[in-house]
Amino acid sequence: MISLSDVTRVYSGGVTALAAVSVEIGRGELVAIVGPSGSGKSTMLNVVGTLDRPSSGTVHIDGYDVSTLSDSRLSALRATRIGFVFQQFHLAAKVPALDNVADGLLYSGIGRAERRRRAAAALERVGLGHRLDHEPHELSGGERQRVAIARAVAGDPSLLLADEPTGALDSVSGAGVMELLHDLNTSGTTVVIITHDREIAASLPRQVRMRDGRIVFDSALNSGSALNSGSAAETPRHAEAGVA
Ligand code: ADP
Repeated sequence: MISLSDVTRVYSGGVTALAAVSVEIGRGELVAIVGPSGSGKSTMLNVVGTLDRPSSGTVHIDGYDVSTLSDSRLSALRATRIGFVFQQFHLAAKVPALDNVADGLLYSGIGRAERRRRAAAALERVGLGHRLDHEPHELSGGERQRVAIARAVAGDPSLLLADEPTGALDSVSGAGVMELLHDLNTSGTTVVIITHDREIAASLPRQVRMRDGRIVFDSALNSGSALNSGSAAETPRHAEAGVA
């Protein structure tokens, strides 16, 4: 599903956010990306999500070599196969949940009535069938994230990428969101989650740990836990030691 080979991303100004990262993530996996702030997690997720192109190296998503695709083919790949969830939800203010979700399908080539039908079905799927007309300010944080997840999966993507999806939620809402992401994975979606929450990371089948733009641990390749992988240099910083 995802294959990165020697992927480097150097930002203008000279920051090397990714330094020769190679990783394979198979169809149907559920993976946690962990590591200190600034270690390159979001950059990697953006490259995997084709929101950003690498400076060098190759990226294959769902069988496509991303570097060979034009911007419009890349947008089409993203619109049909990849869903995104962010810490801050990114919902449109004063727009009902149904339209927030339906508008996520604007670039999929689906007609308006069908977009709304699929949006209602997606909201039903995340347990918000009774909140279709509610605007974001009328919803709790956990409900807003559910709307964002409904938007991400309304187009039935094969890949769901989540950047700190529980970071802005209390622990009960966060657990509900994680349960939903687990359910989506069980029904076949490949899910990659950036998280600072050690309990969440430990609850996922695979952990990939980043530091200074490199993958320093991958539980699929090493035995043991990414969170307890031994050397002093690997001791987590304070920021990621806390549980959200
Ligand atoms: P993480 O998600 O692990 O916190 P990021 O991928 O956001 O890390 O950032 C990795 C490094 O790249 C950091 O040093 C950060 O300051 C830098 N960086 C991120 N985005 C940009 C950008 N748009 N321009 C320049 N530097 C950036």
